[in-house]
Amino acid sequence: MEQSFLIRGDFIFSDREGKLKELPDSVLLVKDGIVCGGFSADELPDDFEKLKNGEVHFPETDSVFSAGDAGQQIDTEQGMTDLRGLAYYNFRGRLIIPGFTDLHLHAPQYAFRGMRMDHELLEWLNYSAFPEEARFRSADYARKAYRIFADDLKRGASTRAVIFATLHTDATLELMRLLEDTGLVTMVGKVNMDRNCPPYLTEKNAEESLRETVRWLNACGLNLKERDYTCGPAGGEPVSKTAAGKRSSGQAGDGKQPFSRTFPILTPRFIPACTDELSRGLGRIAKNTGLPVQSHLDENRGEVSWVKELVPESESYTDAYDRMGLLGGPDSFRSVMAHCVWCSDEEIRILKDRDVFLAHCPTSNSNLGSGIAPVTKYIDRRMKLGIGTDIGAGHAVSMIETVRQAVQVSKLYRQYIDENARPLTMAEAFWLGTMGGASFFCPPTWMNRGKKASESGSFLPGYTFDALVLDESQLRTWMENLTLTERLERFLYLADDRDIAHKFAAGRGIF
Ligand SMILES: [Zn+2]
Repeated sequence: MEQSFLIRGDFIFSDREGKLKELPDSVLLVKDGIVCGGFSADELPDDFEKLKNGEVHFPETDSVFSAGDAGQQIDTEQGMTDLRGLAYYNFRGRLIIPGFTDLHLHAPQYAFRGMRMDHELLEWLNYSAFPEEARFRSADYARKAYRIFADDLKRGASTRAVIFATLHTDATLELMRLLEDTGLVTMVGKVNMDRNCPPYLTEKNAEESLRETVRWLNACGLNLKERDYTCGPAGGEPVSKTAAGKRSSGQAGDGKQPFSRTFPILTPRFIPACTDELSRGLGRIAKNTGLPVQSHLDENRGEVSWVKELVPESESYTDAYDRMGLLGGPDSFRSVMAHCVWCSDEEIRILKDRDVFLAHCPTSNSNLGSGIAPVTKYIDRRMKLGIGTDIGAGHAVSMIETVRQAVQVSKLYRQYIDENARPLTMAEAFWLGTMGGASFFCPPTWMNRGKKASESGSFLPGYTFDALVLDESQLRTWMENLTLTERLERFLYLADDRDIAHKFAAGRGIF
């Protein structure tokens, strides 16, 4: 499918935090994968079908919707020229929504999703996650397992995802190759873990873990020198002028990038699994290269107490990450922390100051009995936030399922934990699952040679076109004239990934 096209349907999307915009029976123009604008199909000329042959004119400028402050208007003159020969996807009557961003999941845990849930986090890791992850030392096993994961992610509701692999470098690269082939936009991390894990799934020490990380990043097309990151002093400062100098250009790279939409992301598993030396070493790589960081934070009360023992000088779990140089900030690299169920007010202050993204994982937090994150508190404090399935502690890779659970658990939070808390609305949950999480992908990146990537997760002009064309044929009702908002809510409560008819990621047709 082409990257420049016209597409017709019933569009609904978030145009700002917690708000929905409806464009019933409308046409969007997508050029080079970017939404340029749209207009009501009522304004189509009668002979619209001839448009692709350049025989009719594009509607007038004033019929193009404007996105207000955040958007830009289409250049109609330019549009007339470029419309000649464009593809036209006629999904008239179909609901079309932005694709979802799954902000946190573990690809190697996909095999046992929906199983082994009768444990809390720390036991669950030992009984379920670690034994399965160890099997990925075999490249053959990894290839077979990750193929199923990549196929299902491609078929599902996510157009973007931020993914943990395992500590195995070669298996991680295999996962990245398979994901690249799906056409989805992803970030993938080789996991770092050098303490408190079973002997069959741990790296010997910080030096070995950092050496493997450099080998992995260089296989992704970077050009890092091993000695800059494996033998340097701890403390978070650049270890050589060479390494520091590369930062200003956005990233160190040799120009040979094997992936075009699969980004590496640094992945310390969590504080309990990483020595201070390893954490600080990863913080140095992030600081010097601008690569993003993902990890876990304040998921389970036993885990929080354990971190206090492991890093006794820290004020909190968040402070422990901060001391290791792993949080980044507005003028530095970007980080995303999964869960954030038990954050104190002081931790929330640090996370907001550093522009850290929070990945809310409601299905996982319910399944492992971790708790309920105060998600509307984070929204009201205008923090960066999205939603993650957290496969395999989350049972389904479907963001449709996870978004509705975010709404449901927020209502329990109000009833059982804090009667002053505001429950999440469906419009807010949808915004988190699309526009909120997707903005993790837009800072300047190495993949874009230091340039800022386009925003995604909405159909505002200027946004990258990630979209799902929905099939509501299984959702029968005798009610008539449902609004697009009602149809969206009904879909989120009743449908699943099998009810997606077509999918676009970064302007390309996926299926
Ligand atoms: Zn996780």
